[in-house]
Amino acid sequence: MPDSSLPPLAVVCRACGYPSAASVAGKITVEDEEEGVPFELSLIQCEHCESPSLIRQDEASEAAPVEVWPTSPRTLHAAIPQNIREGVTEARKCFEAGAFLATTVMVRRVLEGFSADHGVSHKKTLHRALQELVECDVIDARLLEWADGLRLLGNVGAHFTDEMVTKQDASDALDLIEAMLDYVYVFSAKFEQFKARRDEQATPKSRRLTRKLNSGTYLVVPASASWNRDLSCQTSDVRPMPG
Ligand SMILES: [Zn+2]
Repeated sequence: MPDSSLPPLAVVCRACGYPSAASVAGKITVEDEEEGVPFELSLIQCEHCESPSLIRQDEASEAAPVEVWPTSPRTLHAAIPQNIREGVTEARKCFEAGAFLATTVMVRRVLEGFSADHGVSHKKTLHRALQELVECDVIDARLLEWADGLRLLGNVGAHFTDEMVTKQDASDALDLIEAMLDYVYVFSAKFEQFKARRDEQATPKSRRLTRKLNSGTYLVVPASASWNRDLSCQTSDVRPMPG
């Protein structure tokens, strides 16, 4: 039951797409563990379509509340620089409006921002900038292939030609750029933290480091093996463990 003591909120409901009033069923204040700033979580219900959602409002911020549940399938991680996230948001808006050429141009612009964020000069062509990112080990050959495909698609969007960009192309471009940003900014950072933690935990007595992969396969890697080595180099070390 909505708590009638809490005033309704004006929202643009994501479920029905209408500007609507939302009743507030309950509200709690939580302290952000990492940043130490309090924020409010409110469970609300759209008065138009009755869809529930959970929204977060930072107490100190004037910014609009953010829907935290149901989550968008494409919530970009905070580790991705804000100006790059904004570029992706713009690309999504283009896509949602059916502007598929414009989507690919925005995705290409995000690639430029990504290169600039890694110190690759704006003066170079994007093609050259992406190759330089491989030379600096920011991306690998596979990601270069993705990025170059997105660059070329963006060129189709940006230039007046007969070539078309389909809805599927634009949707794939969004998926690929987001996966790429996650890979570089989120998962690479997570893996570095994981490595550092594991290195710290390793004792001289443990001559071997045993890892369990998600697949249930066990890898036995000599403790002397560096995590910095490319995993593909360790295939000769892979042995299934009994049990
Ligand atoms: Zn609604």
